[in-house]
Amino acid sequence: MSTFVTLSSGQRMPLVGLGTWKSAPGQVKQAVLAALDGGYRHVDCAAVYGNEQEVGDALALRVGPGKALRRDEVFVTSKLWNTKHDPEDVEEACRSSLTHLGLSYLDLYLMHWPMAFKDTWKAMENLVDKGLVKAIGLSNFNARQIDDIITIARHKPVVNQVECHPYLSQADLLSHCRSLAVCVTAYSPLGSGDRPWASPDEPSLLADPRLGAISERYQKSPAQVILRWNVQRGVVCIPKSVTASRIQENLRVFDFSLSPEDMRLIDSFNRNTRFIIPTVEKDGKKVWRDGKHPHFPFHDPY
Ligand code: NAP
Repeated sequence: MSTFVTLSSGQRMPLVGLGTWKSAPGQVKQAVLAALDGGYRHVDCAAVYGNEQEVGDALALRVGPGKALRRDEVFVTSKLWNTKHDPEDVEEACRSSLTHLGLSYLDLYLMHWPMAFKDTWKAMENLVDKGLVKAIGLSNFNARQIDDIITIARHKPVVNQVECHPYLSQADLLSHCRSLAVCVTAYSPLGSGDRPWASPDEPSLLADPRLGAISERYQKSPAQVILRWNVQRGVVCIPKSVTASRIQENLRVFDFSLSPEDMRLIDSFNRNTRFIIPTVEKDGKKVWRDGKHPHFPFHDPY
């Protein structure tokens, strides 16, 4: 199968990219170098991860005139953080990410969360007009919120990046996005075991014995089986790792395919479990920190 998807903008986006959230400044440069040297051509970044400078240090060693890779061979995404949604702040935020990453343009710039501000999307569109970004997209938007943007868009969102793995298969959102030619990127595709608010009573996706049984049959790791399930559905995956061997392992998903029965079996693991909703303790109970925000995306069914 192909190793990339073609976005509605015509750009080719590699189906597997390197995630960089939680990758410490002291580790992320080596991780990006290991990824690029091992064949990755897609890096997922964000201003709020606080490590774009170090990602940029790695890109500077491998990408550009006289380096191993041309700029147009690598797909780089960054994201506009929630505090920069005032249209006055959008270009400066984008330029700041570009400076840190050492790039003259981004392949994709996402609105990180739908905590909207009037005209934020218009300001994002201006970035395309100015050549600062090749395309713009969304992250953590529900179907209704995607529709709202598409209604007013001059430059359509090419991607919606959302949490997606076998415990949150996103079948409905996926088919909605397909009908709009919006590509879905799966974040936390391995279940984000290192998320800061993880607690031991939550299920561990990678340790699911049903997944273990499938991975034994294919002689692949549980991570590879999960990633293959998503890429086989046309969903882009951005697994994060700072471990060279895992970085390599996560890209080796194009040399086998899952049978239709096993695809359906993994679909059946869905339990609509979200790992990525920051929670806080209130009266001894865990509650969603941002659940009362008027644009909180996860009250809708999808
Ligand atoms: P993830 O990729 O699902 O999981 C990362 C964890 O899995 C790390 O602890 C990593 O360990 C481990 N791991 C990686 N490969 C493995 C393998 N082959 N076998 C076993 N363990 C493995 O979690 P994530 O970081 O939450 O999500 C991925 C990326 O999506 C992020 O880094 C970020 O770029 C993006 N993201 C976006 C949003 C958004 O709001 N748009 C939200 C969350 C994430 P080591 O690093 O120690 O190897």
